[in-house]
Amino acid sequence: MRGLMQDWPLLCHRIIEHAARYHGTQEVVTRSVEGPIVRTTYAEIHKRALKVSQMLQRDGIKLGDRVATIAWNTARHLECWYGIMGIGAICHTVNPRLFPEQIAWIINHAEDRVVMTDITFVPLLEKIAGQLPSVERYVVLTDKAHMPQTTLKNAVAYEEWLAQADGKFEWQDFDENTAAAMCYTSGTTGDPKGVLYSHRSNVIHSFMANSKDALGTSSSDVMLPVVPLFHANSWGIAFSAPAMGTKLVMPGMKLDGASVYELLETEKVTHTAGVPTVWLMLLNHMAAGNLKLPHLEFVVCGGSAMPRSMIKAFVDMGVTVRHAWGMTEMSPLGTLAALKPPFSDLKGDAQLDVLQTQGFPPYGVQMKITDDAGKELPWDGKTFGRLKVAGPAVAKAYFKVDTKILDDEGYFDTGDVATIDPHGYMRITDRSKDVIKSGGEWISSIDLENLAVGHPAVAEAAVIGVFHPKWDERPLLIVQLKQGQSATREDILKFMDGKIAKWWMPDDVVFVEGIPHTATGKILKTALRDQFKAYRFPNAAA
Ligand code: ADP
Repeated sequence: MRGLMQDWPLLCHRIIEHAARYHGTQEVVTRSVEGPIVRTTYAEIHKRALKVSQMLQRDGIKLGDRVATIAWNTARHLECWYGIMGIGAICHTVNPRLFPEQIAWIINHAEDRVVMTDITFVPLLEKIAGQLPSVERYVVLTDKAHMPQTTLKNAVAYEEWLAQADGKFEWQDFDENTAAAMCYTSGTTGDPKGVLYSHRSNVIHSFMANSKDALGTSSSDVMLPVVPLFHANSWGIAFSAPAMGTKLVMPGMKLDGASVYELLETEKVTHTAGVPTVWLMLLNHMAAGNLKLPHLEFVVCGGSAMPRSMIKAFVDMGVTVRHAWGMTEMSPLGTLAALKPPFSDLKGDAQLDVLQTQGFPPYGVQMKITDDAGKELPWDGKTFGRLKVAGPAVAKAYFKVDTKILDDEGYFDTGDVATIDPHGYMRITDRSKDVIKSGGEWISSIDLENLAVGHPAVAEAAVIGVFHPKWDERPLLIVQLKQGQSATREDILKFMDGKIAKWWMPDDVVFVEGIPHTATGKILKTALRDQFKAYRFPNAAA
C-alpha cells in the first residue's frame, strides 16, 4: 500500500521561494567585489533569480545543460545559483584557486555552455578561453560601469543582461532526482572528479544541516559563510540559510582576518563557518588588537582538522565551537562534534577532548569503519579503519566515470582513516594515503600535526612518512615557525614528549619557510613528499 501524502518534489528553487514568501524582508548583505557593502533581501534575490532563469532560457539553456559559476560569495552569485537550478540546468561551481589548466580541464569535462564570473577572474578566463570550445557566453557579475574591456566570447555585464528580462517567469516542477549542481574534487591525485548533486539530495542535505546538532540556524540568527560557494555548496549554507530565513552576510573576495572581523562585528553575526586557516587569521587579528566579538555565538570549522589551541581560543571567548568533517562527495556534511550526554557538562581539557573529535553524523548519514579486506571494525574509540559512509546525500558515482565507487553494502570509501567510539563520535586519524606505517602499525600524521601546532612558536606543522631501513616508514615533522619566533628541534620534541606514545614521536624535525597547500587549503602532502624525497633520518640504522 502506498502512502496518501502529496507528491511534492524536493526542488532547490522551492527553498528561495519559501525564503521570499515567509522571510522576504530578511537581509542578505554582501561585501561586493567592486568594494562597497551592498544590501538586498530574499524577496529581491528570488525576483532576480527568476530573471536569471528567463535570460538563460532565452540564451538557449535547457534542462540538463551545465552553467559554470566562478565567483566569490555574493548575493549575485546566489541569484545565479537559484536561477540556473530553477530551469533544471546544472550549476557547476568552479574553484578559482585551482591551476588554470585544471580549470580548463574541468570546464571541458563538464561541457559548460555559459560561464558566470566575477570581474576578478576575467583575466584568468581570458588566458584559457581559447581552450574552452563548449562555452558560448560569459556573464560578468557586475554592472555596466565596472564591466572590464574583455576578449571573452559574447561577454555581457550581468546587470545589463538581467535588465533585458521582465521577470514574468515561473519555475516548473520536475523530477526531484534531476541533477541540480556539480562540484569537482580538487584531485590531489589523478584527474578531478565531478560530483553531481540532485535537487533531492541538496534539499535533504539542507534539512540535515539545519538540525540543532549540525549548523542549526534560525530566522533570528545571522550567518556569515566564509567557506566559499564553490567549496561543496558552502557546506550547504546556500540552501540551509534561506530555508530557515537566516540573514546572510556574504564576504565577497576579502577573507583576511581584518575584513572578516569587520563584517562579523558590524553585521552582528551570530554564526559563521570556515576552514581553520581563516580562523587562524581572524584569531591573530583579534589578539593583535585585543578585539572582541560580543554577538558571535557559534563557529563551524571543517575542511581539515581543527587544532586544539584554536578550539580553546573560541571556547575561552564563550563561543560554541562545532568541529565538522565532510567531503564534496557528501554534499558535504558528514559529522559534527556537538556535546551530547554524557559529555554535555564537561569542562576544560575533558570538554576539548570531545570537541576535537570530528563528531557524530546527523540523521541521514551512516558510517562504518573497516579493515583493508572490508571487515567491519569495533567502535571502541581506539581501532582505526577505513571510514565508509552511506546516505541520500552521498555520491554513488562520479560524472562520466564508469568505475564502481560503492562497496557491496552501498558504502562509499571516504579515503579517510578513523576511529569511532561507543557513543558514535568519529575521530579522523589520517587520510589513508598519509597514515605512517611504522613496523606494521599505523601512526596518525594528523595527531602529530595537531600536537606540534600547540607549541607557541609553531605557525603550521605537517608530518609525512619517510623511508626508514628498519621500520619501513617513520614520521618526519615539518614546521613553519611564526614570524619573529624561534624554536629548535629539541624544543619541539620536548614539548611533544609525554603527550603521545613514545613510538609515535617524530624521528626528526625540519624547519621550512612555507608549507604548500591545495586549492581548498589543505596541506599538500604530495608536494612535501616530493620535496623530502632525498631526505634520510640522521640516525637511521636497520
Ligand atoms: P577535496 O576536493 O580536497 O577532497 P573535500 O572538501 O571534499 O575537498 O575534502 C574532504 C577531505 O577533507 C576529507 O575526506 C578529509 O580528509 C578532510 N577533512 C575535512 N574535514 C576534516 C576535519 N574536520 N578533520 C580532518 N580532516 C578533514
